[in-house]
This record gives sequence, C-alpha cells and structure tokens, in this order.
Amino acid sequence: MTGKTHMAVGASTAWIGAMAAGAAGVELTTGDAALLVALGALGALLPDLDAPKSRIHNVFKGLTTPIGYIAKHRNFFHSLLAVAIVFGASWWFGANELVPGAAFVLAAGYISHIVIDMLTPAGVRVLFPLKAKLHWLPRKLSPKTGGIVDNLLFLLASGATGLFLISMI
Ligand SMILES: [Zn+2]
Repeated sequence: MTGKTHMAVGASTAWIGAMAAGAAGVELTTGDAALLVALGALGALLPDLDAPKSRIHNVFKGLTTPIGYIAKHRNFFHSLLAVAIVFGASWWFGANELVPGAAFVLAAGYISHIVIDMLTPAGVRVLFPLKAKLHWLPRKLSPKTGGIVDNLLFLLASGATGLFLISMI
C-alpha cells in the first residue's frame, strides 16, 4: 500500500488512545486528540525505517536514512518484537504523560502498518527472529499498491479519522 494509506490507517487508530485515556479516567482535549492522530500516522510510518526511500526519513530530515540502508526491509522493523519495543520505550519515556494514550496509539499505528503489509504476497517477518514470512492472502488475491483496495482503505480510514476529530471538538 502507499505511504498515504499507511498514514491514514495509522491516524485512524487514535480512538484506541482515547479509549486508553478514558479507561485511566483522563479526559482528552481537542489538542490531545489531534496529537493522537499525528502519532498514529507517525507510528504507521516507523516500520519503513528499514526502507531507504520511504516517507519516514523525510520526517526525520534524512537523519534516519542510514538505518534504511543497514536494516533489511520487512524484517526486524516489521515485527511484533519492534512493536513491543516501540510500546515499551514510549511508555517508559513518559509518552502517556505528554499525551494521554500516546504509547497505545504509536503501537496501534505501527501494528496497522504490519497488518496492511501482510496483504502483499511478499509477506512480512512478523515473528522475527523466526524466519517465517506471513501474509494474509494467496498471491492472486493480493491487492495492488495504488489499486482499489488501497484507495478504499485510504478513504475509509480518512473518514474514520475525520469523525474521530469531529467527535473530540
Ligand atoms: Zn512496510
């Protein structure tokens, strides 16, 4: 899928942070909600740190580009191990204190990227360091990047994110 679809789906996971904050008895401001949307989109771009030409390197002004050349694409950075590290580290460094539910949204956005990449026939090493490459669909049924499924996902996720933001005003 395209980077914009990954971002939109990641952004739409903001409601998970709102639920986590709600469960902790914290009320979100509209600003918090907007930040959660941004963090979800960021989380959804992080796995492609392992691809030198990906959008995430623009976010970090090219500082992270060397990672893209060193790390093998769709290995560690596309694994549940990486999700656990992102969640644990963001929790540890107090992301939830800065923005309620932030660690949850970063992780959810990250997971959404992996789940979507698993729609492609090449598959993803979700269980890294195990070697198995997992994918959801047989090659013939796999949606094309930039195709109908890609665009539909983008539209649905953008709509859901819009509704979330409106509900938080
Ligand atoms: Zn990816």
